Amino acid sequence: MKILIVEDEAKIREYLRQGLTEAGFVVDLARNGLDGHHLAMTGAYDLIILDVLLPDLDGWRILRALREVGHKVPVLFLTARDSVDDRVKGLELGADDYLVKPFAFAELLARVRTLLRRGTAPATDTTLKVADLELDLMRRRITRAGRRIQLTAKEFALLELLLRHRDEVLPRSLIASQVWDMNFDSDTNVIDVAIRRLRAKIDDDFEPKLIHTVRGMGYMLDTSSEI
Ligand code: CA
Repeated sequence: MKILIVEDEAKIREYLRQGLTEAGFVVDLARNGLDGHHLAMTGAYDLIILDVLLPDLDGWRILRALREVGHKVPVLFLTARDSVDDRVKGLELGADDYLVKPFAFAELLARVRTLLRRGTAPATDTTLKVADLELDLMRRRITRAGRRIQLTAKEFALLELLLRHRDEVLPRSLIASQVWDMNFDSDTNVIDVAIRRLRAKIDDDFEPKLIHTVRGMGYMLDTSSEI
């Protein structure tokens, strides 16, 4: 399996190259938009990891060029935290998934494997579901039992994280680093407050309850309420 990484930041590029090589992939690297564009259009890749902000030619131009010629290679793009517009734009342009920087390598590898399993089938499924809860990544819409629910950007990110890791206990420290980009400070209860608000919106009026507190450990999302 051959993967193209288009990333101008040497540190991230090397981190990805090393990890993916160790995981058994053949990796090509491009350090700017022009090289990335050239390789993406001419090489035979099973997947492309595409940074958005690049010198010469940004990731959107590369993605658009690929899709315009009908190239269906799965594209995972890397975006900055909180740039909701980027995520929507990337998915609209035909990307298959995205990761917000900074990310854990394990998370990237899981996404890569999922995309490769999916192969070149049209990737229209940008919805995460559990029970009757649906989170539409492209439209940034959440419904439960068909009812539309409004979330703030942070609540959305928090719910997305929980959904992507359903049935796993997520420690507060991990939630803090993934959603707030901060190291967990035991004096702050920002996560607990955010969870409480999220629960009020997606759980209070519904059954079964989806978000569970795992005492002394963190939070998890699942549909079996016996924790
Ligand atoms: Ca960049």
